[in-house]
Amino acid sequence: MVMEEKKKLTLVQQTAEMVEWLASFGGSKSGGVTRLLYSESWKLAQEALKARMEEASLHAYYDDAGNLFGRLEGSQKEGRAILTGSHIDTVVNGGKYDGAYGIIAGVLALKYLHEHYGRPKKTIEVVSLCEEEGSRFPMTYWGSGSMTGLRSFDDVYLLKDQEGTTFIEAMEKSGFGKGKYQHPGTAHFDCFIELHIEQGEVLERENKSIGVVSHIVGQRRYNVTVNGESNHAGTTPMKWRKDAMNTASALIQVLMEKSKRMPADLVVTVGQMIVEPNIPNVIPNKVTFSIDIRHSDSDIIQSFCQEAFESFEGLARERGTSLDIHKWMDEQPIKMCEKLNELSTTILQTEGTSFKEMTSGAGHDSQVFGQFIPTSLLFVPSHKGISHSPHEFTKTEDLEKGINLLIKILHKLAY
Ligand SMILES: [Zn+2]
Repeated sequence: MVMEEKKKLTLVQQTAEMVEWLASFGGSKSGGVTRLLYSESWKLAQEALKARMEEASLHAYYDDAGNLFGRLEGSQKEGRAILTGSHIDTVVNGGKYDGAYGIIAGVLALKYLHEHYGRPKKTIEVVSLCEEEGSRFPMTYWGSGSMTGLRSFDDVYLLKDQEGTTFIEAMEKSGFGKGKYQHPGTAHFDCFIELHIEQGEVLERENKSIGVVSHIVGQRRYNVTVNGESNHAGTTPMKWRKDAMNTASALIQVLMEKSKRMPADLVVTVGQMIVEPNIPNVIPNKVTFSIDIRHSDSDIIQSFCQEAFESFEGLARERGTSLDIHKWMDEQPIKMCEKLNELSTTILQTEGTSFKEMTSGAGHDSQVFGQFIPTSLLFVPSHKGISHSPHEFTKTEDLEKGINLLIKILHKLAY
């Protein structure tokens, strides 16, 4: 009876139902969702999804890290499978859509294809990746990373969560671990297609339904430490000071002014500052601040940093201070698959669905897969760009447009 009723639902109704259903695992009264890797709500969500996949006639299985796959077997024996999906984990008190949407889209698309067109030629799989956010253990992309080989079980041995539980303990308690299940890895897959909410407000502001991502931006992060000399705020004349804050503010000013003369999509953020001794009536002897720089072209990032840092030295010297610049992150931009993007834009143009080709300022699992197999990342609008919050919201009609696109892409590729 329940099955009968479910069949009657339209795709948009199924989408709305599945969003609320999945959000109930780890859901709070405030409307937020917390599903940390290998937690109870995480395990319940994966198990419930497994049952949903089986209900949709997919062969559901886990890998050793706890990634869950739903397989729609193709008639061709040879050849690799097409993969779609996203991550099941959330940040603490996150939203209903981040990650979850890509999984829901995959399950509903495969269900639709099976119901309307039967068995495909090529195998298609949907994956509910175990982890992306890094919100329980100090490591991100465990799901896609363990699949691609970018991360290994050796990388997680020393990790602990805030309660002191080790990664291995948590993983084993959930029933996963090296050798517990098979490890399909990316060698079995032809390509990866991820649907995700934009987590920015470009699509909404420009009134576009779909974002076709050309690149995931590269990121560099630095810590800049300015060394000066502490002294009395009342008795030290301005001209004799070695004020680390005076230098830091000049450097940040230069950074922001230079960024305005770069291509508009270069973004620079100084989001953290540590002042020592951090006392109102003492001249700071040490200021450390972070710099986060992102762009889709690594040459642009490089030339920006080189120019900025060249002027830094002189500015620090003029103020009687010295500098240490420490680079601690350098992630290269990742290009998404042009052929897959062409397929998407052709479908969207034919349908008359509005879209925008754009870069992604955030990473996503596509950043990992894109280093190994042809990858496509597609966005749907995020209301006001709000994400990692209970207020995260995307209209069901927008979610459905994304799922429709995924159905058409998979149909074209697999049938
Ligand atoms: Zn996400």
